[in-house]
Amino acid sequence: MARILAVTNQKGGVGKTTTCVNLAASLAATKRRVLMVDMDPQGNATMGSGVDKHSIEQSIYDVLVGEAKANQVRIRQTPGGFDLIPSNADLTAAEVELFELDNKERRLKAELEELSAEYDYILIDCPPSLNMLTVNALAAADGVVIPMQCEYYALEGISSLLNTIEQIRGALNPDLRIEGILRTMYDPRTSLANEVSNQLTEHFDSLVYQTVIPRNIRLAEAPSHGLPALMYDKQSRGAIAYLALAGELNRKQQQQTSLAS
Ligand code: ATP
Ligand code: MG
Repeated sequence: MARILAVTNQKGGVGKTTTCVNLAASLAATKRRVLMVDMDPQGNATMGSGVDKHSIEQSIYDVLVGEAKANQVRIRQTPGGFDLIPSNADLTAAEVELFELDNKERRLKAELEELSAEYDYILIDCPPSLNMLTVNALAAADGVVIPMQCEYYALEGISSLLNTIEQIRGALNPDLRIEGILRTMYDPRTSLANEVSNQLTEHFDSLVYQTVIPRNIRLAEAPSHGLPALMYDKQSRGAIAYLALAGELNRKQQQQTSLAS
């Protein structure tokens, strides 16, 4: 069964999509079978994986409203070595249409359950809001990966996200856990970044990934080539950092499996 991770933070531009695409490619590089699901109508994760969001016939929208099955929409073996369920602006309509449908919060979960046996990881890229799409992602997930920039308001943002996760646990998904908090676009030369980072580790301790993602121009350039950084410039600090993160996730996963058995 796949471990399903939602990459989420209601704050925009914190590195969710960059994390999703690069983590997917890095996990695939460690021989894990990975499916990425783009749940953002912006379709950035789709484009960043080398799939043109304008030319796809069906997307996650069709899956959510019941017009297609996930395995019909899935694109096999993107250049990053992972499979993708793509998205585009069509998905905007789903936010409204879902309210008319049965089981509106659990539609993604039901679809992913059918594919779960084929993968080690399923990563879900969430939009920068707490709408019905994000609720579907959180209802489907085993864990939440929270990318954050170490800025002044970041901790406030995290506490409102934690409240949401708590609500989802109560209402929809009692086993949902915080998989980890990831420091992104990190610049160790700024004292504010270090201060916020220290507060973060004080509050959240081992929930904060040891791996830190540096600010790195290659990570910003790679999407315009439709490639994860690992395929665009594998020597770059960004690519190396996401490989380290994949290693950290795999080790955590192995520890959990050995504790459970
Ligand atoms: P949204 O909320 O709009 O979905 P997001 O949280 O998915 O945004 P990204 O799109 O991943 O954030 O990143 C925002 C911008 O910052 C993008 O232009 C991206 O290329 C750039 N970026 C992300 N991470 C890094 C990094 N570590 N170094 C340099 N640039 C980065
Ligand atoms: Mg995004």
